[in-house]
Amino acid sequence: MALTPPLACTVRGCALALEPRGRSWSCAGGHSFDVARSGYLSLLQPQDRRSLAAGDSRETAQARRELLDSGFGAALEQALCELAGELRLEPGSFAADLGCGEGRFLAAAAACSALHGIGLDLSAHSIELCARRHPQHTWVVANADRRLPLLDGSLALALSIDGRRPRDELARALAAHGALIVAVPAADDLAELRGAVLGEIHGDSRVARVVAELAPQFELVGERSARAQVQLEPADLMRLAAATYRWARARERAALAELGRTAVTTSHDLLAFRRVRA
Ligand SMILES: [Zn+2]
Repeated sequence: MALTPPLACTVRGCALALEPRGRSWSCAGGHSFDVARSGYLSLLQPQDRRSLAAGDSRETAQARRELLDSGFGAALEQALCELAGELRLEPGSFAADLGCGEGRFLAAAAACSALHGIGLDLSAHSIELCARRHPQHTWVVANADRRLPLLDGSLALALSIDGRRPRDELARALAAHGALIVAVPAADDLAELRGAVLGEIHGDSRVARVVAELAPQFELVGERSARAQVQLEPADLMRLAAATYRWARARERAALAELGRTAVTTSHDLLAFRRVRA
């Protein structure tokens, strides 16, 4: 059973279904998009090009890959799989990740629930890492701030891991009882580093804000917390700084560089939602 991933044309005003034809995908309107050598598809339009600087650089994408390969995201990955398991998604259906980064979390959720993943990210550098490691899924360079390049009602699951949550577009792309899993940093995420660098320890919980923002199209049906304390070596701290916008400023990087081996709390709140019938 090899269903075609439900991608939609991104030419302005088109939105027709894309079909794979050899090394390209095209719509019935005659618009065509080439598959890159490493196997991903770019659906960026000329008007998206100026946003490219906002996509992760090669350095950032690689830093995140190395950090996650060292085990930094293991607690989040496990919680994500548990929560997705509770949703009893139909095997073989489609799961999309908005802002999938280097692809680990989508690949993990897809593996746990036997889904086909569609990863979307603005960064071609990140998407290339995804396509090389997880060629069984579909990886797309796209601007998720605009209309999502997905057909109406086509997804069983959408993921937003530390990413954007365009409510109306998510509701459009999800099937009638489709599910959405949102992960946001918890109040104690990176508490030790915040204490050492910013002089503050606890951030705010974002849970109530996310629930309010997604209502009334989405109803909260499950929650998990993913928390672990990991020992980071100085090189890991530099990877974390490079992988995370919050720590990207030179002054903060310099303060992190002065720390030795540090125990760091990584903590996320995961929320599962069902799309509510309109
Ligand atoms: Zn088209």
